[in-house]
Amino acid sequence: MTVILDSNRQEYMAESLRREQTDKYLVDGNDFIPDREIHALLDAAKPDPEYIRDILKKSLAIQTLEPAEMAALLQVEDDQLLAEMAEAAIKTKHFVYDNRIVTFAPLYMSNLCVNRCAYCGFSTESQNVQRRKLSMDEVRSETNVLAGKIGHKRLIVVYGEHPSTSTEYIADTITNVYDVKAPTRHGFGQIRRVNVNAAPLPVEDLKHLHEVGIGTYQVFQETYHKETYREVHPAGTIKGDYRWRLYCMHRALEAGVDDVGMGALFGLYNWKFDALALLYHARELEARYNIGPHTLSFPRIEPACDSLLARNPNDLLTDRQFKKLIIVLRLSVPYSGMIITARENRATRDECIPLGCTQTDASSRIGIGSYSDVYTDQEEARQQFILGDTRSLEELVVDLAKQGVITSFCTAGYRCGRTGGCIMDMLKTGKEGTFCKLNAVLTFREWLDDFASPESLAICEPVIQKEIEGVRAMVKPEFFEKFEGYYKRICSGERDLYF
Ligand code: SAM
Ligand code: SF4
Repeated sequence: MTVILDSNRQEYMAESLRREQTDKYLVDGNDFIPDREIHALLDAAKPDPEYIRDILKKSLAIQTLEPAEMAALLQVEDDQLLAEMAEAAIKTKHFVYDNRIVTFAPLYMSNLCVNRCAYCGFSTESQNVQRRKLSMDEVRSETNVLAGKIGHKRLIVVYGEHPSTSTEYIADTITNVYDVKAPTRHGFGQIRRVNVNAAPLPVEDLKHLHEVGIGTYQVFQETYHKETYREVHPAGTIKGDYRWRLYCMHRALEAGVDDVGMGALFGLYNWKFDALALLYHARELEARYNIGPHTLSFPRIEPACDSLLARNPNDLLTDRQFKKLIIVLRLSVPYSGMIITARENRATRDECIPLGCTQTDASSRIGIGSYSDVYTDQEEARQQFILGDTRSLEELVVDLAKQGVITSFCTAGYRCGRTGGCIMDMLKTGKEGTFCKLNAVLTFREWLDDFASPESLAICEPVIQKEIEGVRAMVKPEFFEKFEGYYKRICSGERDLYF
Protein backbone atom coordinates (compact mmCIF):
# COMPACT_ATOMS: atom_id res chain seq x y z
CA MET A 1 0.00 0.00 0.00
CA THR A 2 2.77 2.44 0.82
CA VAL A 3 5.22 1.76 -1.99
CA ILE A 4 4.66 3.40 -5.36
CA LEU A 5 6.82 2.79 -8.38
CA ASP A 6 8.67 5.68 -10.04
CA SER A 7 6.60 5.40 -13.22
CA ASN A 8 3.38 5.53 -11.19
CA ARG A 9 4.76 8.46 -9.24
CA GLN A 10 5.29 10.44 -12.44
CA GLU A 11 1.81 9.62 -13.65
CA TYR A 12 0.36 10.69 -10.29
CA MET A 13 2.33 13.92 -10.45
CA ALA A 14 1.14 14.68 -13.97
CA GLU A 15 -2.47 14.10 -12.88
CA SER A 16 -2.14 16.18 -9.72
CA LEU A 17 -0.67 19.35 -11.21
CA ARG A 18 -2.92 21.40 -13.52
CA ARG A 19 -0.76 24.05 -15.10
CA GLU A 20 -3.80 26.01 -16.35
CA GLN A 21 -4.88 26.41 -12.71
CA THR A 22 -1.77 28.38 -11.83
CA ASP A 23 -0.78 30.18 -15.04
CA LYS A 24 -4.04 32.06 -15.36
CA TYR A 25 -3.21 34.11 -12.27
CA LEU A 26 0.24 35.25 -13.38
CA VAL A 27 0.70 38.87 -14.36
CA ASP A 28 3.20 39.25 -17.22
CA GLY A 29 4.45 35.79 -16.32
CA ASN A 30 5.13 36.81 -12.70
CA ASP A 31 3.56 35.70 -9.45
CA PHE A 32 2.81 38.09 -6.56
CA ILE A 33 5.96 37.41 -4.53
CA PRO A 34 8.60 39.91 -5.68
CA ASP A 35 11.72 38.56 -3.93
CA ARG A 36 13.92 41.55 -4.74
CA GLU A 37 11.33 44.13 -3.72
CA ILE A 38 10.82 42.39 -0.36
CA HIS A 39 14.55 42.43 0.38
CA ALA A 40 14.77 46.07 -0.72
CA LEU A 41 11.89 47.07 1.59
CA LEU A 42 13.55 45.39 4.53
CA ASP A 43 16.87 47.08 3.75
CA ALA A 44 15.29 50.51 3.38
CA ALA A 45 12.94 50.37 6.38
CA LYS A 46 13.58 52.99 9.09
CA PRO A 47 11.80 52.39 12.39
CA ASP A 48 11.33 56.08 13.22
CA PRO A 49 9.15 56.25 16.42
CA GLU A 50 6.61 58.76 15.02
CA TYR A 51 6.18 56.74 11.85
CA ILE A 52 5.77 53.54 13.91
CA ARG A 53 3.11 55.21 16.10
CA ASP A 54 1.18 56.30 12.98
CA ILE A 55 1.29 52.71 11.74
CA LEU A 56 -0.09 51.48 15.06
CA LYS A 57 -3.09 53.82 14.65
CA LYS A 58 -3.81 52.15 11.33
CA SER A 59 -3.65 48.67 12.87
CA LEU A 60 -5.97 49.77 15.66
CA ALA A 61 -8.41 50.94 12.96
CA ILE A 62 -8.24 47.33 11.61
CA GLN A 63 -6.65 48.25 8.30
CA THR A 64 -4.27 45.90 6.51
CA LEU A 65 -0.80 47.47 6.43
CA GLU A 66 1.26 48.36 3.37
CA PRO A 67 4.39 46.19 2.90
CA ALA A 68 6.66 49.19 3.68
CA GLU A 69 4.81 49.72 6.96
CA MET A 70 5.17 46.09 7.98
CA ALA A 71 8.87 46.22 7.05
CA ALA A 72 9.30 49.19 9.40
CA LEU A 73 7.63 47.28 12.26
CA LEU A 74 9.87 44.29 11.61
CA GLN A 75 12.96 46.48 11.99
CA VAL A 76 12.03 47.95 15.39
CA GLU A 77 14.57 46.97 18.06
CA ASP A 78 13.92 49.63 20.69
CA ASP A 79 12.34 48.02 23.82
CA GLN A 80 10.01 50.95 24.54
CA LEU A 81 8.67 50.95 20.99
CA LEU A 82 8.33 47.15 21.03
CA ALA A 83 6.28 47.46 24.23
CA GLU A 84 3.97 49.97 22.50
CA MET A 85 3.61 47.58 19.58
CA ALA A 86 2.73 44.71 21.94
CA GLU A 87 0.11 46.87 23.64
CA ALA A 88 -1.44 47.79 20.29
CA ALA A 89 -1.43 44.11 19.23
CA ILE A 90 -3.28 43.09 22.39
CA LYS A 91 -5.86 45.88 21.89
CA THR A 92 -6.34 44.93 18.26
CA LYS A 93 -6.97 41.30 19.13
CA HIS A 94 -9.50 42.30 21.79
CA PHE A 95 -11.37 44.60 19.43
CA VAL A 96 -11.66 41.96 16.72
CA TYR A 97 -11.96 38.74 18.75
CA ASP A 98 -12.60 39.76 22.35
CA ASN A 99 -11.02 38.00 25.31
CA ARG A 100 -11.19 34.45 24.04
CA ILE A 101 -9.07 31.71 22.60
CA VAL A 102 -10.57 28.97 20.47
CA THR A 103 -9.23 25.44 20.90
CA PHE A 104 -8.95 22.54 18.51
CA ALA A 105 -7.06 19.26 18.09
CA PRO A 106 -5.06 17.91 15.16
CA LEU A 107 -6.20 14.53 13.83
CA TYR A 108 -3.59 12.91 11.60
CA MET A 109 -5.33 10.63 9.09
CA SER A 110 -2.34 9.39 7.12
CA ASN A 111 1.42 9.71 6.87
CA LEU A 112 1.73 8.18 3.41
CA CYS A 113 3.45 10.75 1.24
CA VAL A 114 5.10 10.95 -2.16
CA ASN A 115 7.05 14.14 -1.38
CA ARG A 116 10.53 14.67 -0.01
CA CYS A 117 10.30 17.80 2.12
CA ALA A 118 13.67 18.02 3.84
CA TYR A 119 12.20 19.01 7.21
CA CYS A 120 9.36 16.49 7.53
CA GLY A 121 9.25 13.10 9.22
CA PHE A 122 6.78 11.85 6.59
CA SER A 123 9.14 12.47 3.64
CA THR A 124 9.83 9.45 1.40
CA GLU A 125 13.42 9.75 2.64
CA SER A 126 12.37 8.85 6.20
CA GLN A 127 13.25 5.17 6.51
CA ASN A 128 12.25 4.73 10.12
CA VAL A 129 8.77 6.18 10.15
CA GLN A 130 5.90 3.66 10.51
CA ARG A 131 3.54 4.39 7.63
CA ARG A 132 -0.17 3.92 7.52
CA LYS A 133 -3.54 5.55 7.00
CA LEU A 134 -6.60 5.31 9.22
CA SER A 135 -9.51 3.07 8.24
CA MET A 136 -12.98 4.59 8.61
CA ASP A 137 -13.51 2.55 11.81
CA GLU A 138 -10.34 4.04 13.19
CA VAL A 139 -11.44 7.56 12.18
CA ARG A 140 -14.58 7.03 14.24
CA SER A 141 -12.61 5.65 17.22
CA GLU A 142 -10.27 8.63 17.18
CA THR A 143 -13.21 11.03 16.97
CA ASN A 144 -14.95 9.25 19.85
CA VAL A 145 -11.98 10.01 22.10
CA LEU A 146 -11.67 13.62 20.92
CA ALA A 147 -15.37 14.50 21.14
CA GLY A 148 -16.48 12.18 23.95
CA LYS A 149 -13.56 12.03 26.37
CA ILE A 150 -11.61 15.25 25.81
CA GLY A 151 -14.45 17.51 24.69
CA HIS A 152 -13.14 18.99 21.46
CA LYS A 153 -15.60 20.57 19.02
CA ARG A 154 -13.10 21.49 16.29
CA LEU A 155 -10.46 19.48 14.52
CA ILE A 156 -7.78 20.10 11.97
CA VAL A 157 -7.51 16.89 9.96
CA VAL A 158 -4.07 16.31 8.43
CA TYR A 159 -2.92 14.19 5.47
CA GLY A 160 0.26 13.47 3.55
CA GLU A 161 0.04 13.52 -0.24
CA HIS A 162 -0.46 10.08 -1.77
CA PRO A 163 -2.67 8.33 -4.35
CA SER A 164 -4.19 6.13 -1.65
CA THR A 165 -5.41 9.18 0.30
CA SER A 166 -7.18 10.85 -2.61
CA THR A 167 -9.80 13.58 -2.27
CA GLU A 168 -12.40 10.79 -2.02
CA TYR A 169 -10.59 9.40 1.02
CA ILE A 170 -10.34 12.89 2.53
CA ALA A 171 -14.06 13.46 2.00
CA ASP A 172 -14.96 10.07 3.54
CA THR A 173 -12.85 10.66 6.62
CA ILE A 174 -14.47 14.07 7.14
CA THR A 175 -17.99 12.69 6.75
CA ASN A 176 -17.14 10.00 9.30
CA VAL A 177 -15.85 12.58 11.76
CA TYR A 178 -19.04 14.65 11.49
CA ASP A 179 -21.20 11.52 11.98
CA VAL A 180 -19.79 10.54 15.37
CA LYS A 181 -21.96 11.24 18.41
CA ALA A 182 -19.95 10.35 21.51
CA PRO A 183 -21.70 9.96 24.88
CA THR A 184 -20.85 12.59 27.54
CA ARG A 185 -22.26 13.54 30.98
CA HIS A 186 -25.14 15.40 29.30
CA GLY A 187 -26.09 13.74 26.03
CA PHE A 188 -23.36 13.53 23.41
CA GLY A 189 -20.30 15.33 22.12
CA GLN A 190 -19.79 15.99 18.44
CA ILE A 191 -17.19 17.63 16.19
CA ARG A 192 -18.87 20.70 14.75
CA ARG A 193 -16.12 22.05 12.53
CA VAL A 194 -13.50 20.12 10.58
CA ASN A 195 -10.67 22.22 9.19
CA VAL A 196 -8.34 20.57 6.69
CA ASN A 197 -4.57 20.64 6.25
CA ALA A 198 -3.82 18.72 3.09
CA ALA A 199 -1.90 19.08 -0.13
CA PRO A 200 -2.83 21.82 -2.62
CA LEU A 201 -5.75 20.46 -4.63
CA PRO A 202 -7.28 21.30 -7.99
CA VAL A 203 -10.41 23.41 -8.03
CA GLU A 204 -12.72 20.46 -8.81
CA ASP A 205 -11.55 18.56 -5.72
CA LEU A 206 -11.87 21.65 -3.55
CA LYS A 207 -15.48 22.01 -4.70
CA HIS A 208 -16.08 18.45 -3.56
CA LEU A 209 -14.59 19.14 -0.12
CA HIS A 210 -16.71 22.28 0.12
CA GLU A 211 -19.82 20.16 -0.45
CA VAL A 212 -18.76 17.79 2.33
CA GLY A 213 -18.69 20.81 4.65
CA ILE A 214 -15.06 21.56 5.41
CA GLY A 215 -14.24 24.56 7.55
CA THR A 216 -10.93 26.28 6.86
CA TYR A 217 -8.68 24.91 4.11
CA GLN A 218 -5.16 25.34 5.40
CA VAL A 219 -1.97 25.08 3.36
CA PHE A 220 1.36 26.61 4.38
CA GLN A 221 3.71 27.87 1.69
CA GLU A 222 6.56 26.77 4.02
CA THR A 223 8.90 29.42 2.58
CA TYR A 224 8.05 32.07 0.01
CA HIS A 225 11.73 32.41 -0.92
CA LYS A 226 11.98 30.63 -4.27
CA GLU A 227 15.58 29.47 -4.07
CA THR A 228 15.19 28.05 -0.58
CA TYR A 229 11.86 26.51 -1.58
CA ARG A 230 13.65 24.64 -4.36
CA GLU A 231 16.39 23.47 -1.99
CA VAL A 232 14.01 21.92 0.56
CA HIS A 233 11.41 20.59 -1.93
CA PRO A 234 13.30 18.63 -4.60
CA ALA A 235 12.41 18.98 -8.26
CA GLY A 236 10.42 16.06 -9.63
CA THR A 237 8.09 16.02 -6.62
CA ILE A 238 4.61 17.57 -6.57
CA LYS A 239 5.54 19.79 -3.67
CA GLY A 240 8.55 20.99 -5.65
CA ASP A 241 6.14 23.07 -7.74
CA TYR A 242 6.16 26.45 -5.94
CA ARG A 243 3.32 28.00 -7.89
CA TRP A 244 0.97 25.02 -7.61
CA ARG A 245 1.15 25.63 -3.87
CA LEU A 246 1.20 29.43 -4.05
CA TYR A 247 -2.12 29.62 -5.88
CA CYS A 248 -4.04 26.97 -3.93
CA MET A 249 -5.85 29.61 -1.88
CA HIS A 250 -6.99 31.22 -5.12
CA ARG A 251 -8.39 27.89 -6.24
CA ALA A 252 -10.07 27.30 -2.88
CA LEU A 253 -11.80 30.68 -2.99
CA GLU A 254 -12.95 29.99 -6.53
CA ALA A 255 -14.27 26.61 -5.41
CA GLY A 256 -16.41 28.30 -2.75
CA VAL A 257 -14.22 27.38 0.24
CA ASP A 258 -14.06 30.90 1.55
CA ASP A 259 -12.18 30.35 4.82
CA VAL A 260 -8.54 29.84 3.90
CA GLY A 261 -5.58 29.48 6.25
CA MET A 262 -2.09 30.43 5.16
CA GLY A 263 1.25 30.13 6.90
CA ALA A 264 5.00 29.74 6.65
CA LEU A 265 7.29 27.26 8.34
CA PHE A 266 9.75 29.47 10.18
CA GLY A 267 13.37 28.35 10.24
CA LEU A 268 13.75 27.61 6.53
CA TYR A 269 14.71 31.12 5.44
CA ASN A 270 15.06 34.65 6.85
CA TRP A 271 12.01 35.12 9.09
CA LYS A 272 11.40 38.76 8.16
CA PHE A 273 11.25 37.88 4.47
CA ASP A 274 8.67 35.14 5.04
CA ALA A 275 6.63 37.34 7.38
CA LEU A 276 6.47 40.09 4.77
CA ALA A 277 5.64 37.58 2.04
CA LEU A 278 2.64 36.44 4.11
CA LEU A 279 1.40 40.03 3.94
CA TYR A 280 1.85 40.05 0.14
CA HIS A 281 -0.20 36.85 0.00
CA ALA A 282 -2.96 38.31 2.19
CA ARG A 283 -3.07 41.51 0.14
CA GLU A 284 -3.22 39.55 -3.11
CA LEU A 285 -6.31 37.66 -1.90
CA GLU A 286 -7.91 40.86 -0.58
CA ALA A 287 -7.31 42.63 -3.91
CA ARG A 288 -8.63 39.77 -6.05
CA TYR A 289 -11.45 38.35 -3.94
CA ASN A 290 -12.08 40.91 -1.21
CA ILE A 291 -11.36 38.11 1.25
CA GLY A 292 -8.18 37.78 3.28
CA PRO A 293 -6.79 34.82 5.22
CA HIS A 294 -9.15 33.45 7.84
CA THR A 295 -6.08 32.36 9.78
CA LEU A 296 -2.32 32.83 9.77
CA SER A 297 0.02 30.13 11.07
CA PHE A 298 3.67 30.60 11.94
CA PRO A 299 5.07 27.22 13.07
CA ARG A 300 8.74 26.94 13.91
CA ILE A 301 10.56 23.82 12.72
CA GLU A 302 10.69 21.03 15.29
CA PRO A 303 12.90 17.91 15.28
CA ALA A 304 11.52 15.19 12.99
CA CYS A 305 12.28 11.55 12.23
CA ASP A 306 15.32 11.13 9.92
CA SER A 307 15.51 14.86 9.09
CA LEU A 308 18.90 16.52 9.53
CA LEU A 309 17.46 19.89 8.53
CA ALA A 310 14.78 19.74 11.22
CA ARG A 311 17.51 19.21 13.81
CA ASN A 312 19.64 22.04 12.41
CA PRO A 313 17.32 24.57 10.78
CA ASN A 314 18.86 27.17 8.48
CA ASP A 315 17.53 30.23 10.24
CA LEU A 316 15.87 29.41 13.55
CA LEU A 317 14.00 32.23 15.28
CA THR A 318 14.91 33.08 18.85
CA ASP A 319 12.04 33.40 21.33
CA ARG A 320 12.37 37.20 21.24
CA GLN A 321 12.08 37.20 17.45
CA PHE A 322 9.15 34.79 17.62
CA LYS A 323 7.24 37.13 19.95
CA LYS A 324 7.97 40.04 17.67
CA LEU A 325 6.75 38.02 14.69
CA ILE A 326 3.41 37.40 16.42
CA ILE A 327 3.02 41.07 17.34
CA VAL A 328 3.89 42.26 13.83
CA LEU A 329 1.58 39.77 12.11
CA ARG A 330 -1.30 40.79 14.40
CA LEU A 331 -0.69 44.45 13.57
CA SER A 332 -0.21 43.90 9.84
CA VAL A 333 -3.27 41.73 9.09
CA PRO A 334 -5.39 42.85 12.04
CA TYR A 335 -8.59 40.99 11.13
CA SER A 336 -6.99 37.59 10.68
CA GLY A 337 -7.16 34.72 13.16
CA MET A 338 -3.73 33.58 14.39
CA ILE A 339 -2.86 30.02 15.35
CA ILE A 340 -0.11 29.05 17.78
CA THR A 341 0.32 25.29 18.11
CA ALA A 342 1.61 22.76 20.61
CA ARG A 343 4.87 22.70 18.65
CA GLU A 344 5.80 25.52 21.03
CA ASN A 345 6.63 24.70 24.65
CA ARG A 346 4.36 25.61 27.53
CA ALA A 347 6.17 28.77 28.64
CA THR A 348 6.31 30.17 25.10
CA ARG A 349 2.63 29.47 24.46
CA ASP A 350 1.59 31.04 27.77
CA GLU A 351 3.58 34.14 26.93
CA CYS A 352 2.59 34.40 23.27
CA ILE A 353 -1.14 33.65 23.37
CA PRO A 354 -2.08 37.02 24.87
CA LEU A 355 -0.03 38.91 22.26
CA GLY A 356 -2.62 38.34 19.55
CA CYS A 357 -3.24 34.63 19.02
CA THR A 358 -6.82 33.50 18.60
CA GLN A 359 -6.56 29.71 18.32
CA THR A 360 -4.48 26.95 19.85
CA ASP A 361 -4.55 23.16 20.12
CA ALA A 362 -4.53 20.99 23.23
CA SER A 363 -4.39 17.31 24.20
CA SER A 364 -2.66 17.05 20.84
CA ARG A 365 -1.29 13.76 19.52
CA ILE A 366 0.19 13.70 16.06
CA GLY A 367 0.79 10.02 15.43
CA ILE A 368 -1.55 8.04 13.20
CA GLY A 369 -4.20 6.50 15.45
CA SER A 370 -2.60 7.99 18.52
CA TYR A 371 -5.71 9.13 20.39
CA SER A 372 -7.01 5.56 20.68
CA ASP A 373 -3.59 3.92 21.18
CA VAL A 374 -1.33 3.79 24.15
CA TYR A 375 2.20 4.90 23.28
CA THR A 376 4.86 7.26 24.48
CA ASP A 377 3.99 10.84 23.54
CA GLN A 378 7.26 11.66 21.92
CA GLU A 379 7.88 8.51 19.86
CA GLU A 380 9.57 9.86 16.74
CA ALA A 381 8.77 7.02 14.34
CA ARG A 382 5.05 7.51 14.87
CA GLN A 383 4.66 11.20 14.23
CA GLN A 384 5.55 14.04 11.91
CA PHE A 385 7.65 15.99 14.40
CA ILE A 386 8.06 16.32 18.16
CA LEU A 387 5.60 18.46 20.14
CA GLY A 388 6.79 21.05 22.64
CA ASP A 389 3.67 21.15 24.83
CA THR A 390 1.64 18.04 25.61
CA ARG A 391 -0.77 19.70 28.06
CA SER A 392 -4.28 18.26 28.13
CA LEU A 393 -7.21 20.41 27.07
CA GLU A 394 -8.34 20.64 30.69
CA GLU A 395 -4.89 21.78 31.87
CA LEU A 396 -4.76 24.42 29.13
CA VAL A 397 -8.29 25.65 29.89
CA VAL A 398 -7.37 26.04 33.56
CA ASP A 399 -4.06 27.78 32.78
CA LEU A 400 -5.85 30.24 30.49
CA ALA A 401 -8.54 30.83 33.12
CA LYS A 402 -5.82 31.70 35.61
CA GLN A 403 -4.75 34.44 33.17
CA GLY A 404 -8.38 35.61 32.91
CA VAL A 405 -8.76 34.25 29.36
CA ILE A 406 -11.92 32.35 28.38
CA THR A 407 -11.66 29.21 26.24
CA SER A 408 -14.17 29.14 23.41
CA PHE A 409 -15.55 26.07 21.66
CA CYS A 410 -17.53 28.23 19.28
CA THR A 411 -18.15 27.01 15.74
CA ALA A 412 -21.08 29.34 15.09
CA GLY A 413 -19.55 31.70 12.54
CA TYR A 414 -19.22 29.04 9.90
CA ARG A 415 -22.57 27.43 10.65
CA CYS A 416 -24.38 30.79 10.48
CA GLY A 417 -22.71 31.68 7.18
CA ARG A 418 -20.37 34.25 8.75
CA THR A 419 -17.43 33.33 6.53
CA GLY A 420 -15.41 34.83 3.68
CA GLY A 421 -16.35 38.34 2.58
CA CYS A 422 -19.28 38.54 5.00
CA ILE A 423 -17.12 37.95 8.07
CA MET A 424 -14.40 40.34 6.85
CA ASP A 425 -16.62 43.37 7.45
CA MET A 426 -17.85 42.05 10.76
CA LEU A 427 -14.30 41.48 11.95
CA LYS A 428 -13.14 44.92 10.87
CA THR A 429 -16.01 46.68 12.64
CA GLY A 430 -15.75 44.67 15.86
CA LYS A 431 -19.23 43.12 15.38
CA GLU A 432 -17.87 39.58 15.23
CA GLY A 433 -16.14 40.24 18.58
CA THR A 434 -19.58 40.54 20.21
CA PHE A 435 -20.63 37.18 18.76
CA CYS A 436 -17.31 35.75 19.93
CA LYS A 437 -18.02 36.85 23.48
CA LEU A 438 -21.58 35.46 23.59
CA ASN A 439 -20.68 32.14 22.00
CA ALA A 440 -17.53 31.76 24.10
CA VAL A 441 -19.65 31.93 27.26
CA LEU A 442 -22.27 29.47 25.96
CA THR A 443 -19.77 26.90 24.66
CA PHE A 444 -17.49 27.23 27.69
CA ARG A 445 -20.48 26.51 29.93
CA GLU A 446 -21.23 23.38 27.90
CA TRP A 447 -17.65 22.18 28.15
CA LEU A 448 -17.33 22.88 31.88
CA ASP A 449 -20.54 20.98 32.64
CA ASP A 450 -19.67 18.05 30.36
CA PHE A 451 -15.97 17.59 30.98
CA ALA A 452 -14.40 19.63 33.81
CA SER A 453 -13.39 18.22 37.20
CA PRO A 454 -14.70 20.00 40.34
CA GLU A 455 -11.24 21.54 40.87
CA SER A 456 -11.12 22.97 37.33
CA LEU A 457 -14.68 24.19 37.63
CA ALA A 458 -13.78 26.16 40.75
CA ILE A 459 -10.98 27.95 38.89
CA CYS A 460 -13.01 28.61 35.72
CA GLU A 461 -16.32 29.72 37.25
CA PRO A 462 -15.15 33.30 38.10
CA VAL A 463 -13.97 33.75 34.49
CA ILE A 464 -17.34 32.80 33.03
CA GLN A 465 -19.18 34.99 35.54
CA LYS A 466 -16.95 37.97 34.65
CA GLU A 467 -17.62 37.39 30.94
CA ILE A 468 -21.38 37.26 31.58
CA GLU A 469 -21.13 40.65 33.27
CA GLY A 470 -19.13 41.83 30.24
CA VAL A 471 -21.98 40.73 27.96
CA ARG A 472 -24.52 42.55 30.16
CA ALA A 473 -22.51 45.77 29.81
CA MET A 474 -22.07 45.33 26.06
CA VAL A 475 -25.53 44.53 24.66
CA LYS A 476 -29.05 45.98 24.91
CA PRO A 477 -31.15 44.66 27.86
CA GLU A 478 -33.61 42.79 25.59
CA PHE A 479 -30.69 41.04 23.88
CA PHE A 480 -29.12 40.19 27.21
CA GLU A 481 -32.40 38.56 28.19
CA LYS A 482 -32.25 36.33 25.12
CA PHE A 483 -28.63 35.46 25.89
CA GLU A 484 -29.49 34.68 29.51
CA GLY A 485 -32.30 32.43 28.30
CA TYR A 486 -29.84 30.43 26.15
CA TYR A 487 -27.39 30.26 29.06
CA LYS A 488 -30.01 28.87 31.42
CA ARG A 489 -31.12 26.28 28.88
CA ILE A 490 -27.51 25.11 28.56
CA CYS A 491 -27.21 24.90 32.35
CA SER A 492 -30.24 22.61 32.29
CA GLY A 493 -28.52 20.25 29.84
CA GLU A 494 -29.59 21.57 26.42
CA ARG A 495 -26.69 21.79 23.94
CA ASP A 496 -25.54 23.59 20.81
CA LEU A 497 -27.30 26.95 21.20
CA TYR A 498 -25.45 29.82 19.56
CA PHE A 499 -25.69 33.28 18.02
N1 SAM B 1 1.20 17.21 3.47
C1 SAM B 1 0.53 18.43 3.50
C2 SAM B 1 1.46 19.58 3.21
O1 SAM B 1 2.66 19.39 3.22
O2 SAM B 1 0.95 20.66 3.02
C3 SAM B 1 -0.17 18.73 4.79
C4 SAM B 1 0.28 18.14 6.02
S1 SAM B 1 1.84 18.62 6.65
C5 SAM B 1 1.79 17.16 7.56
C6 SAM B 1 1.43 20.06 7.64
C7 SAM B 1 2.50 21.06 7.93
O3 SAM B 1 3.39 20.58 8.92
C8 SAM B 1 3.39 21.43 6.80
O4 SAM B 1 2.78 22.33 5.93
C9 SAM B 1 4.61 22.00 7.51
O5 SAM B 1 4.53 23.41 7.59
C10 SAM B 1 4.52 21.44 8.91
N2 SAM B 1 5.74 20.69 9.26
C11 SAM B 1 6.36 19.75 8.54
N3 SAM B 1 7.49 19.33 9.15
C12 SAM B 1 7.59 20.06 10.29
C13 SAM B 1 8.56 20.11 11.35
N4 SAM B 1 9.65 19.35 11.35
N5 SAM B 1 8.34 20.97 12.37
C14 SAM B 1 7.24 21.76 12.39
N6 SAM B 1 6.31 21.76 11.42
C15 SAM B 1 6.46 20.92 10.38
FE1 SF4 C 1 4.57 15.08 2.80
FE2 SF4 C 1 3.49 17.33 3.79
FE3 SF4 C 1 5.49 16.09 5.06
FE4 SF4 C 1 5.99 17.32 2.80
S1 SF4 C 1 5.28 18.30 4.71
S2 SF4 C 1 6.71 15.27 3.34
S3 SF4 C 1 4.12 16.98 1.68
S4 SF4 C 1 3.45 15.31 4.73
